[in-house]
Amino acid sequence: MNYRVVPYNQDIIEIISDSISNYESDLKKERLKYYSPQVCKSELNFKEFMENGQVEKFEEIFTYKIIYSMDKFNPIYNSNIKDLQDFLYFKNFNENIVYKLNNSKELMKQDMIELYNSKFSKIGQPGRTHYDRIRNLIDYCPYCQENDVKHLDHFLPKTQFPSLSVSPINLVPLCSDCNTAKKATTGFFNPYFEDVDSEQYLFCDISFQNDDYIIKFKSEQPSSWSKQKYSRVESIFTKMTKGHEILVLFNKWARTTINESKRRLVRSALRGQKDFRETLLDDYKDSVEEQGINYWKSTLYQCLLNNLEDTHKYFSSIVIQD
Ligand SMILES: [Zn+2]
Repeated sequence: MNYRVVPYNQDIIEIISDSISNYESDLKKERLKYYSPQVCKSELNFKEFMENGQVEKFEEIFTYKIIYSMDKFNPIYNSNIKDLQDFLYFKNFNENIVYKLNNSKELMKQDMIELYNSKFSKIGQPGRTHYDRIRNLIDYCPYCQENDVKHLDHFLPKTQFPSLSVSPINLVPLCSDCNTAKKATTGFFNPYFEDVDSEQYLFCDISFQNDDYIIKFKSEQPSSWSKQKYSRVESIFTKMTKGHEILVLFNKWARTTINESKRRLVRSALRGQKDFRETLLDDYKDSVEEQGINYWKSTLYQCLLNNLEDTHKYFSSIVIQD
């Protein structure tokens, strides 16, 4: 299997424990600790769905009824009674006082989102070390495969799936453009679990007209893929907001690449079609080796090779001025 990103292998309970280490509110700390086993279960469940390629069927299963059982000397009880009263009701239960979380689903959501925003992603906060490690898993954005990674994106939005707010496998390192353009949309492939490079889905066409050429990238469903799998890949081309249309960017980047290697390609073309083919083939192989068959540069060189005669004619006719 050839996944684009290898997951950050850190226990979610430790991530939560590190992140809450400087919380001033003991009650909040306690609550997060209580969520931990549930969060862990939810993460495992998510993983299972992802591995089976059934992400669209994943639903957050979280037992929202959380019971606090503690004796009356517990500092949480003493120091945070007002805070408790806002959310909890309690009754005597043998020697212990049992608190049931009231409106606990909403509270868990608030707690988990706040944990991500104020302790995990915020610079200088204790969970930020984990954030940075996940961000550094790869250099290039797994969606556009070109821009530098800048942010972590919630694969499933934290507002809908709060239990996965700080789960490494739900946090995908993306470039700024993809992160902004994706917003809270779902339906994309998960680069930790989906082998999207097993088949070629990215192609491009080149046509020559009046001493110039037009390059057009497109995506196609590989015959061995399910419709669902392909639609998750296709989403990177269709679901990003306008202004960051990746196929259009590929067209632009391809022209820039050709311009930048023009002198080299012309020199090779002038040595004959066989030499020219070898040059393109080397470029193609390097590109596939480095970033796979669906990297836009691989597709570009493949397209130039497929149209060898026209491409060779075009480059042979260019006059380079020294
Ligand atoms: Zn990107």
